[in-house]
Amino acid sequence: MSGRWHTINGWQLREYLSCARKPYMRTYRPFDAQDLPREQAAVIASDLDLGLAHEAAVGLARHPATASPPSGARLPEQAEWTLAAMRRGEPKIYQGVLRWRTSMGNPEWWGAPDWLVRKPGASAFGNWYYSADDAKAGRRASRDIQIVPVAYYCLLLEKIQGTRPDFKLLREFGRVEYHRTTDHEQRVLSTIADLSMVLGDGRDPGTQLASRCRNCEFNRACTTDAERLKHLTLLPGLRKEQLATLERLEIHSVSDLARRTPDAIVGTGGFPDPGRVRLLIERARAIDTGDARLVGRVEIPAPEKVEVFIDIENEGLTNHDDGFLFGVLVRRGKRATYWSSLATTAREQRRAAREFRQKLLAFPDCRVFHYGPHERGFVTEHDLQARLFDVYSIVRENAALPVKGTGLKDVAKALGFRWREANLDGRVIPSLWYSMSGASKRHQSRVRARLRRYNEDDLRALLHVVDWIRSVWQAAVPK
Ligand code: SF4
Repeated sequence: MSGRWHTINGWQLREYLSCARKPYMRTYRPFDAQDLPREQAAVIASDLDLGLAHEAAVGLARHPATASPPSGARLPEQAEWTLAAMRRGEPKIYQGVLRWRTSMGNPEWWGAPDWLVRKPGASAFGNWYYSADDAKAGRRASRDIQIVPVAYYCLLLEKIQGTRPDFKLLREFGRVEYHRTTDHEQRVLSTIADLSMVLGDGRDPGTQLASRCRNCEFNRACTTDAERLKHLTLLPGLRKEQLATLERLEIHSVSDLARRTPDAIVGTGGFPDPGRVRLLIERARAIDTGDARLVGRVEIPAPEKVEVFIDIENEGLTNHDDGFLFGVLVRRGKRATYWSSLATTAREQRRAAREFRQKLLAFPDCRVFHYGPHERGFVTEHDLQARLFDVYSIVRENAALPVKGTGLKDVAKALGFRWREANLDGRVIPSLWYSMSGASKRHQSRVRARLRRYNEDDLRALLHVVDWIRSVWQAAVPK
């Protein structure tokens, strides 16, 4: 081993697999708490809550009355306690701490599987050994992220007890997944070797912006790095294989790409369509120069005396009693008036949906603008559906903007719109709904007011985007 002394643990492996740069940022770049807005911290906390709730449910169902190390003790003491418990043959150990001291200069291995479960069979302890059971709620994490750390715990157990165990992942609804540790050994060892280069040698894997970055505490630092380098991952929707192709073509930044013509790229891996390549190059130019533009033929309805804009927020937990907020903005000439209907129970939801439809039917001849496919699912009447117009389709197909995302928030912001609730976005909103459950009336009414304010700003942002498209594209197609 070379470089800085470090340890390896399951949590670091999980983090490395979710983003190779994160352990580097945590070790070598100072973190400013200001970089993580309160609401985004709440998203991470709510994910953690859901994970812990699943772990508690599994604990009750499968591993009640388990021994665990003394809480509050230092990790080395917890590791000693765990080793002693394994030696005396404790049937189940919850959150035991495993430690394996390597030869001088090599990283120590640490780990804390959810449960250590005693099994019959020979080991250094006697005629029993331990295997690892881990609870996995897994709403977003990849299979690799879920499996590699637990396979690592089993390799760590092998070093401690001299016997290699297999493992179980305990999933929702009582589902159990069995895994052979040997099947994952190479993946674990290669991940440890890569992680050691990051932690020990300080190798920066480099910024690779992706949707996962939105709720990462290093988002601001990595975005700043990407902007300084004019990194290709600033381009919206660029896929991994496309990035690899551009790098093969010696295109390493948006500035490099901005100087190319479509002919140099069309037909290379991942780029079959000349129209999309042209749009990609225009997007690189927009990021390079800061100028927004439209590419290709744009079809947007001509301005009318009265226009309607809709936006629907919901809790996103897909329960039948999800919270819902139906927002409508009606523009008459220069004036725009906001209306909303909010529901937090299944019964209220039906009432709010009915009011929303009635509101739309009160404007029988008007165009109804929305952003993305979500709203269309709430409009079932045929004549209403015919009046819907999805502004996102233009942004996706024709807009070259100096911004990575194509979400309404990113797009409208790049076009000069400012939200009153600057730290809220579609990823954060579910945690706001979530915070209302069981909270005081005061908190609930504060959250409702915030949701309405955010929803109204979404609608005004949508109006702003429509006006921008019209302003740069005069030849609007009549209704
Ligand atoms: S912001 Fe993105 S690239 Fe940077 S550490 Fe976080 S997840 Fe990784």
